[in-house]
Amino acid sequence: MDFLIASSTEDLCELLAQDPTRQLLAGGTDFMVEVNFRHRDVTGVIAIDRIEELKRWRHDGDSVLIGSCVTYREIERGPLATLIPALAQSARTIGSPQIRNAGTIGGNLATASPAGDMIPVLSALGAQVIVRSKSGVRELQVGELITGVKTNSLLEDEFIESVRVPVLRGPQEFLKVGPRNAMVISVTSLAMVTDIDKEYIGIALGSVSASPCRSTEAEHFISKNINWDKLTVQSGAIENFESLVRESANPIDDHRSSSGYRTHTVGILARRALLRIFRLEN
Ligand SMILES: Cc1cc2nc3c(=O)[nH]c(=O)nc-3n(C[C@H](O)[C@H](O)[C@H](O)COP(=O)(O)OP(=O)(O)OC[C@H]3O[C@@H](n4cnc5c(N)ncnc54)[C@H](O)[C@@H]3O)c2cc1C
Repeated sequence: MDFLIASSTEDLCELLAQDPTRQLLAGGTDFMVEVNFRHRDVTGVIAIDRIEELKRWRHDGDSVLIGSCVTYREIERGPLATLIPALAQSARTIGSPQIRNAGTIGGNLATASPAGDMIPVLSALGAQVIVRSKSGVRELQVGELITGVKTNSLLEDEFIESVRVPVLRGPQEFLKVGPRNAMVISVTSLAMVTDIDKEYIGIALGSVSASPCRSTEAEHFISKNINWDKLTVQSGAIENFESLVRESANPIDDHRSSSGYRTHTVGILARRALLRIFRLEN
């Protein structure tokens, strides 16, 4: 097997253009599991975790540009956690400290698992994924990148360079249901973000559909039932809000849960996130 180490994004573009069958290795937390279980045939690997540009992030006005090799460890605390609290909350729920030291935001997006915990947060925030190859750069919505269960729309010679995440003014929540609190793949998850300036709430669900799931109707409905000056919610709106969130889910039965339980829990998570962010109106 060829094992190559890319030193820059230009180098990576060149190595992929020469042979697009080469596979990218970032933190290896998904990749190596598949190799060890012989679920992945590999003839050539390019390690990307030493590319400095991919390991950096920067705050650019009203957004943060996060390199694809930024790890959960860096997202879960420090300035990134202040700028994008729901992303930090979600990072803190992922695996163990060892997994969070190695696993990257780019790997989570490229793996495209319905249970990928970065995905609902990035969807709710309307993040843009920047993908690159020798032929140029494209910007995709998370829902355009992730096309189904573990499938993405990257071209053979493309890689995820970075993710542009809007920085919003307003509280955010990420909640996850699993059989225990740590080291758990989500049975369901929910991200709720607020934009006080636009008086809008973004909601996305995890593990309830093949591709990223925004609860658009619930977002429109509940945004109109908030007093944005006082940050309160009308109590009479909560039941309908929960139903709209449940209706937006399209879960399956699998070894982790029944579809009925998944549908039930996203409603609970929606109510809980809402009431953590907004007080009930008297
Ligand atoms: C014990 C354990 C617990 C876990 N718990 C969770 C959890 O709770 N929640 C959760 O969401 N995930 C969890 N995971 C999954 C995993 O940690 C994440 O999906 C991780 O983000 C993958 O990132 P990575 O850098 O390790 O990617 P890698 O394993 O290196 O790569 C994964 C895939 O993405 C591709 N890839 C990587 N980077 C790029 C890029 N920049 N451009 C294009 N393609 C790329 C690779 O070619 C490969 O196909 C767990 C994994 C383990 C082993």
